[in-house]
Amino acid sequence: MTKRELADRILAMLDTREWEELESGSTRVPVNPYNREVLLRLRETADELTGDTDGERAGEIEEKVRRLLDGMWPEEPDAHKYVVAACLILTLLEEKPMHPPASVKYHTEVREGKAVYYCPARVPDGPVCALCLARPWDELEERRREAVSTTEETYGPLSAAVQKEILEAGFGESGVIPVPELRFREEVRKCCEENRCGAYGTSWACPPAVGTLEECRSRTEGYAYLQLFSRAFLLEDSMDFDGMKNAMADFKQTVSRLGKRLREVLPDARILSNESCGRCASCTYPDAPCRFPEELYHSLEGYGFNVSELAGQAGIRYMNGPSTVTFLGAVLYGSPGEEKEGT
Ligand code: SF4
Ligand code: SF4
Repeated sequence: MTKRELADRILAMLDTREWEELESGSTRVPVNPYNREVLLRLRETADELTGDTDGERAGEIEEKVRRLLDGMWPEEPDAHKYVVAACLILTLLEEKPMHPPASVKYHTEVREGKAVYYCPARVPDGPVCALCLARPWDELEERRREAVSTTEETYGPLSAAVQKEILEAGFGESGVIPVPELRFREEVRKCCEENRCGAYGTSWACPPAVGTLEECRSRTEGYAYLQLFSRAFLLEDSMDFDGMKNAMADFKQTVSRLGKRLREVLPDARILSNESCGRCASCTYPDAPCRFPEELYHSLEGYGFNVSELAGQAGIRYMNGPSTVTFLGAVLYGSPGEEKEGT
């Protein structure tokens, strides 16, 4: 079955009057606001749907959700179709978990252009969860434990502790590079100075405020390791500039979350982050000191790092497939001279 055929089947579940009521928010039966949003979104996007979906699974979801609702919510039978429709849209057309991220705080990882969701609220053997494509949280924790244990074997307990904080803050991948192996590239700094990204001289996070390349090198050499981390995001397509902006804001929030966690356990560590700062609507640079020095994360590029080269050295992905964007950052930690070489 094509996605477009399933979309038409779902659109036909409501008649013209019911769609009008849904649009105006005046349905005669209770409709959850998230389900309303999902249904209205389908009306706007149905024409753009491409590819196939599993028709048999659509039938199974519809039957099971209807049966569940008959048992759990018998007093509003006319409201059931709105729930069924939203479940079908989310699971088979949008390929997302059934509940909104704000209510279950699921974790999303993007690999090879596809999102994989892990839900902390998943009920083992729960009838709704069994239909949802979100994966069990234990699976994510197991993957994180394995990654941390591999890092501990190679680089020791401090690197393992940093990686645990990185992954638990919400980043998808991380990898360690001993500081003596880093390359500080004049040509990257030159790109900053030519203002290719438009951020040069606009905040305390970028050159020239971060100091010369030599100053950045000497600051970095005050640590043993750089642990690179990344988070990838799905976009509508490669021209989805709003999606990129939202992804960057989400990435910066995750960096902030990591910053808070690390300040508790490793106050001497330094975080670097992709691109400029962007925390305040208007930066104080250069007229007054940074408003949030504890949350000022210098730009990776401003330190002369070629970010794709760093990703290769750290063994993590720099790109995650078509219509995705990946942002990276790094933690500097440990005392110089204590580095172990990677194996
Ligand atoms: S796994 Fe269960 S709780 Fe989590 S989003 Fe899916 S249906 Fe909701
Ligand atoms: S936190 Fe605010 S003041 Fe400080 S560098 Fe960022 S935007 Fe500028």
